[in-house]
Order: sequence, then structure tokens, then C-alpha cells
Amino acid sequence: MTDTDFRRRIPRTDAVLAEPRVAAAVAVVGKARVKEVVAAAQQRARGGDIAPEAVVDEVVAELPRSAASVRPVINATGVLLHTNLGRAPLSDAAREALTTAAGTTDVELDLVTGGRGRRGAGALAALAAAVPDAGAVHVANNGAAALILAATALAAGREMVIARGEMVEIGDGFRLPELLESTGARLREVGTTNRVTRDDYARAVGPDTGMILKIHPSNFVVQGFTSSVPAGELTGLGVPVVSDIGSGLLAPHPLLPDEPDAATELRAGVPLVTASGDKLLGGPQAGLLLGDADLVQRLRRHPLARALRVDKLTLAALEATLRGPVPPVRAMLEADVEGLRARARAISADLAVHGIDAPVVDCRAVVGGGGGPGVEFPSAGVALPEEAAAALRVGAIPLVGRVENGRCVLDVRSVAPADDERLAAAVRAVGAVGGSERHSRAPRSIGSAVRSGPDPSS
Ligand SMILES: *Cc1c(COP(=O)(O)O)cnc(C)c1O
Repeated sequence: MTDTDFRRRIPRTDAVLAEPRVAAAVAVVGKARVKEVVAAAQQRARGGDIAPEAVVDEVVAELPRSAASVRPVINATGVLLHTNLGRAPLSDAAREALTTAAGTTDVELDLVTGGRGRRGAGALAALAAAVPDAGAVHVANNGAAALILAATALAAGREMVIARGEMVEIGDGFRLPELLESTGARLREVGTTNRVTRDDYARAVGPDTGMILKIHPSNFVVQGFTSSVPAGELTGLGVPVVSDIGSGLLAPHPLLPDEPDAATELRAGVPLVTASGDKLLGGPQAGLLLGDADLVQRLRRHPLARALRVDKLTLAALEATLRGPVPPVRAMLEADVEGLRARARAISADLAVHGIDAPVVDCRAVVGGGGGPGVEFPSAGVALPEEAAAALRVGAIPLVGRVENGRCVLDVRSVAPADDERLAAAVRAVGAVGGSERHSRAPRSIGSAVRSGPDPSS
């Protein structure tokens, strides 16, 4: 066989693209990407690495399944809101709303009159209904955007009074004080790291004060000789009080008694509450602004509001989250530990059938992502050898567990029950490679465990 004969047998690009499986991929990931994969396979055939007849199969095997590089990951870290894993997973209702909203929609058109409608009226109405104590509501891009909007409108070029113990770094090197100063507001710190009193605030407020800001220290706890002042007790000082509660809890939650919520703050007379949409609310990334009607209207009409405006996808997902069934994060938070143990037992039994020893263990889950700092929930999962953690992350179905006490624990509290099958499949896929050796480490207390893996902070 001559070199030319061999090369002639390598299918031409047009022929590969015409193959139905490849043509279908063009519709999903685009022609340019498919052509790259085809060219690479042809190159390998030319170099003799694969047979010319294998080109089409190679291309099909290597084609990406999606035009975007983002991949679904199973969160078995036991951190319910993992910022590195995209915080709250959306409910099916919200996902469906997102898909619908992706086309042309009536986001800002009144179909009855044919005139301009209020942008995202449905989402805003749903939010107003969920927080009846708010005179008005507005939605910005995220919690940080909500803060920026309030700080710019109320305190740019003026002073903002804030407790020293509430100067929070929210994660990835972003510090709220720096974010606030970027608006042109001057921070006036009051109190000490551990203590602040109403008098401290009262003394700091003067003619140049634009607002008082209360920030919920959502990712750490200060214990011992401490005192702070509830936002509701700062309302009589003659300047607007803004309470950044962070987590997006709209009403008190019995499992998180120390977590501030919007309804309680508003009832205590706080004129403006800001929060995130993708934390305990369980919705899309968004920044909620709830409060006094005049104040919210002022923020809504501020020029900066246009730059911090949420897109139609967010509005749709937020409305569906608020009106639809209990979002996944809330179900995970409220799941009964007996039910979690039963799920872990079923996963463990499935793996045992495939020769993988993954004993059921009791463990402790956390809210993470800027909510419920210091609060742990009894949970359950299955344990694998520590080495499995890295393999599971890069497996066919990426799965992130938690390494503690020399093993990799897969905590089911942060996994949607519908994903248990996929979790077991992800372990089986890796177990076949090498994680299946028997190990008989007895379950141990993991109370003092160090959580590893991606940064669970906000
Ligand atoms: C999370 C958090 C923020 C930032 O909100 P994003 O939605 O991440 O922008 C601000 N303040 C507090 C108290 C938080 O917990």
C-alpha cells in the first residue's frame, strides 16, 4: 500500500460532516468546533496513529456535548451553598422558566395595550408578595450590586457609618469596605472588632452622614465578649439604615435561629434590606432591595440602577423560585437525617453490588456561601478512600466530595435526591479504575474535621 492510497482512505471533511451523528453535533456545538475535532482526527490518521476508517468514530467520541465549557457537577461536599459550585441549584420550575425566557419575551412589553410594560413586573410582584412588609422591591445583579446601588444613591461623597466588626471579606479577596469606598462614600468605623453600642453609632452620626450600614457577618462568628446593635435599634438616629442580611432569608427559619431575615428587619422599622437571590432563597444570582417605598423608588430611578439591571433570565428564574415549589436548597436544609441515612444506605448497597466498599457514615453539613455561619446539620453519606476525591472530580460525571480524617466522604445532604443514581454511577465509573480496593476504616467522629476542596466561603 502506497502512502497516497493510505491518505486517500482518510475521509474528507465534507464526508465526516455529513455523517448524521456529526451533523447533529453541529447543531449543538457549532460548525467551527466540530471542524476542529474533525481536523485533529484526520491529522492523527495521516500520522498513522489511527486507522482512516476510525476517523468518524473518533470524531463522534470526542465531540463536546455542549457549546459551553461549563459542566454539571454533583455537590457531595455537604456545603449546601458552595460558591465555587454555583451556589443554589435552581428548581425545575426555575429552569423551565429560564428556558422560556431565553427567547423573545414580554419582559418589558404590555401585551394588552401594546405599550411599554414595567420590566420584570411578574418577578417584582412575586417578590413583593413574598415580603409583604416591604413597601417596594427592586432587583439588581447580585448582593454586591444591591449594596453599591444603595451606597451610591445614599452616601456617595458623604459618610457611611459601619461597625468595625462588620468589615467583612466576602471571598476571593473581595472586601465589602473596599467595595463600598469605590462608590465615593467615606467609611466611618465605629466600635471595636468585638463590640459596638448604639451610642457609638449615635456619636458618629452627623450632618455629613448619608447612611448607617449593618452587615451580617455571614461567613464567620465572633464569640466571647461581644455585642452588636440590631439594625432596628438604629432607626431613630435621623439617617437611613441599610441592613445587608446577605443570605436572602425572607422570613425567620426555625433551623437557623441566628440568621437575620427580611421580614423581621422590616418589621423592626429598618428602611432598606439587601440580600442575595442565590443563597438561602434558592434562586438565581440576584440582589434584592426591599423596603420603604420612597427609598426603593429613589434607588430604582438612580442612573446606576440601569447598569446593575438584571437580565430577563434572572427575572424569570427568580419569579419561578418565589412562586414555584420549595427550591432544592430549602429541601436540602430541611431534610430529615433519617431520610439521608436511608439514601446513603441505598447508595452504599448499590456500590457493594459492584464490589466497591463505601460504608455509610454520619457526618455534618453546613450552609456555606454566606449563611448560617457556625451552624452544622447532622447528615449522612458514604466514605471512600481519600485518593478517590481527585479521581471523582475528573471522572465522566464530575463529583466533588469532602476529604476529612483521611477519607473522602460523599455527603448526601447537598445532593438532590434525584441525583443519587448519578452519584453512584460516578463512583462506579471511578471505582472501576482503581478506587475499588477494599478498605475497612470504621466510621469516626468528624466533628473536628477540616473541610478541604474548593473554598466554601461566600
Ligand atoms: C454574600 C454576601 C454579599 C455578597 O452578595 P453577592 O450576591 O455574592 O454579590 C454581601 N453581603 C453579605 C452579608 C453576604 O453574605
